[in-house]
Amino acid sequence: MSTTEPATAQRTRAALDAVPSYKQGRTLAEGADMVKLSSNELPFAPLPSVLAAIEAGLNGLNRYPLTAAPALTEALSRRFNVGAERIVYGAGSVEIVSQFIRATCAEGDEVMYAWRSFEAYPMLVQTAGATPLQVPLTADHRHDLPAMLAAITDRTRLIIVCNPNNPTGTTVSAEELEEFLSQVPASVSVLLDEAYHQFDDGVEPIVGAELLERFPNLSIAHTFSKAYGLAGLRVGYGIAPAGLASALRKVAVPFGVTDLAQRAAVASLEAGAELEERVDAVLAERHRVVSTLEAAGWTLPASRANFLWLPLGADTEAAVEVLERHGILVRPFPGEGLRVTIAEIEGNDRLLAGAAELAERGVTGGLVSH
Ligand SMILES: *Cc1c(COP(=O)(O)O)cnc(C)c1O
Repeated sequence: MSTTEPATAQRTRAALDAVPSYKQGRTLAEGADMVKLSSNELPFAPLPSVLAAIEAGLNGLNRYPLTAAPALTEALSRRFNVGAERIVYGAGSVEIVSQFIRATCAEGDEVMYAWRSFEAYPMLVQTAGATPLQVPLTADHRHDLPAMLAAITDRTRLIIVCNPNNPTGTTVSAEELEEFLSQVPASVSVLLDEAYHQFDDGVEPIVGAELLERFPNLSIAHTFSKAYGLAGLRVGYGIAPAGLASALRKVAVPFGVTDLAQRAAVASLEAGAELEERVDAVLAERHRVVSTLEAAGWTLPASRANFLWLPLGADTEAAVEVLERHGILVRPFPGEGLRVTIAEIEGNDRLLAGAAELAERGVTGGLVSH
């Protein structure tokens, strides 16, 4: 057998050469005593009622799923009081974001988002042939909505507002968002990416759904991957104006959401109270970790999500090493900071032990207090 690669004459799109590959949060080696806090997953196994719903669908795996997801659509339509024609589905809400970009942008049109924000945005924008317009976060790691307004051009087709923002955990206030939405031209779509909205226990948590009726260019993207704990099943949805929704369906991956994922999503919506308990447990842990860190001298941006942002700047890589020695995997952004998921007590205690060692060395992140 030849060990050399055959010379290839196959062509790939030149534009892709400049696109970085998506870097997944580091995964665990089999048997390693490490806790994975690098992907914002829920630490709990699926609820028994959700597992039962999945099992009930196993016999139908020879069939394609129903693209319209009728049972899930009925449940979501009731929950958000919107017509079925406004609900769209994707293999996770990352596919929903991709649909919005490809349904609104031709070659060279612009998609605006804050930076730093979700790692997938630049990749999805560039692979669609659109142009990213990245507007820096404020010094306190929040969306700079006035700067975003000022950056709109006549090529801007889509603005993504990630709220709470991944990786900084910060939110925009309802007032700021309304002010912003009232000034964005009606021809520009605004997508609120609310992947973490269930963890937003702020003074006035914003659920985009309440704003949908008032702003006809507003849409939202939600996922079952985070608070619902179904990251492995791949199901997300969007709520958009009807005309845009039908364009989104045209660019969707056909049969992208499996029947098992649809069943699990319906069962999850029915298990609201149990899931809320799990979210509350994560929030209680987030409060405990934050107050312990603050007592030790850390100053962090206020997180309203299931993760914390440690703005460590040049100390980031050294901090990652220390935290790995304490048995946790985190998500580093070299030179900027690291994101760490709030999980169950043991993983969080490891974070606190690692952070205590960092504090002894004089590393307490804090570029900003709140
Ligand atoms: C995790 C995440 C998503 C969605 O993830 P899926 O698993 O594709 O549903 C969307 N937006 C942000 C900001 C996220 O962090």
